[in-house]
Amino acid sequence: MNIPFNKVYTTGNEAKYIAEAISQGKLSGNGEYTRRCQTFLERRYLLKKTLLTTSCTDALELAALLIDLKPGDEVILPSYTFVSTANAFALRGAKLVFADSQANHPNLDAEAIEPLITERTRAIVPVHYGGQACDMKAIMELAARHALWVIEDAAQAIESRYDDKWLGGVGHLGAFSFHETKNIICGEGGALAINHEPFQKRAEILWEKGTNRSAFFRGEVDKYGWVDVGSSFLPSELNAAFLWAQFEALDDIQNRRMAAWQVYHTRLTGLAKREILIMPDTTHNAHLFYIVCRSLDERTRLIAHLKSQQISSVFHYLSLHKSPYFATKHDGRILKNADRFTDCLVRLPMYAGLSITDAEKVAAAVGDFFEV
Ligand SMILES: *Cc1c(COP(=O)(O)O)cnc(C)c1O
Repeated sequence: MNIPFNKVYTTGNEAKYIAEAISQGKLSGNGEYTRRCQTFLERRYLLKKTLLTTSCTDALELAALLIDLKPGDEVILPSYTFVSTANAFALRGAKLVFADSQANHPNLDAEAIEPLITERTRAIVPVHYGGQACDMKAIMELAARHALWVIEDAAQAIESRYDDKWLGGVGHLGAFSFHETKNIICGEGGALAINHEPFQKRAEILWEKGTNRSAFFRGEVDKYGWVDVGSSFLPSELNAAFLWAQFEALDDIQNRRMAAWQVYHTRLTGLAKREILIMPDTTHNAHLFYIVCRSLDERTRLIAHLKSQQISSVFHYLSLHKSPYFATKHDGRILKNADRFTDCLVRLPMYAGLSITDAEKVAAAVGDFFEV
């Protein structure tokens, strides 16, 4: 493809910092680069505490351990999301209760949540699709009223805001991804923001395999040992060194993505009068740009049309309530908006190295297809 859907963008300093980590002879996790990355996240996004993890999947699993889910506890989450949002809680034996998306946006419909709350509900997991915030005011109010935890799946939402807060910093816990398909990358990587202070100490213990090793290295205890359950959630210094190079260039990366996003939005606004939905121009981080076609058939033809011009575009999630793993466990409710996005949503190429000329070429090809 002339214009791929995604292309890894590197700043030039990744290999240098990895070489530095190697020459310092410290490769396992929780070293200097890890601390630098964690401090960066905490300062930039006003987070009380963050821990780097090996993925967002891992960060969500750590979150599920922190809220102490018991088998049979219920978790409310969108059906239109990545499998990790669900797996983290399924692994703890939780009952997954899928909620529908909004009619005009893939994000969780806050109004669809309350009727799903029961005696066993323990958490709500909003996913900020494309870095656009869910209705966090409504969700946090609901959570307060029913004493529920809120775990933000902010995998796609770094650098995006909601009111006066940054996404990932609104709920009790927030999980980020640095997977190679996200805005800021290190191959496989993630972070958990621990916004609810009483979780902080235990988070560090679970993160370090159930030991109080971190407290030991701070000199707070004179030996360390097994004090709780846990796992190896921390990434190596090699990943953190790569990530540090990306954090240093974060503004540049974001400016490049935002410029391409703006080309799409400006050129394709006219699709609205054809009843084709495009990603709204509300606060976002240029993680992706989507179009919602009027039918599955129209989407299939659009993808083929773009492909014939050497442009790669891709659809996104398949509703989890209809997945091979979950279909027989679902309670039968119809989630029509999630199904519509499953069938009709398509994403255009988006990466920091996408030139304005290429973004214009993509937008023109989409415009031609719809004759606008
Ligand atoms: C990418 C993504 C994940 C998983 O992130 P990893 O770092 O690959 O584990 C989870 N949820 C959403 C919404 C994502 O987009």
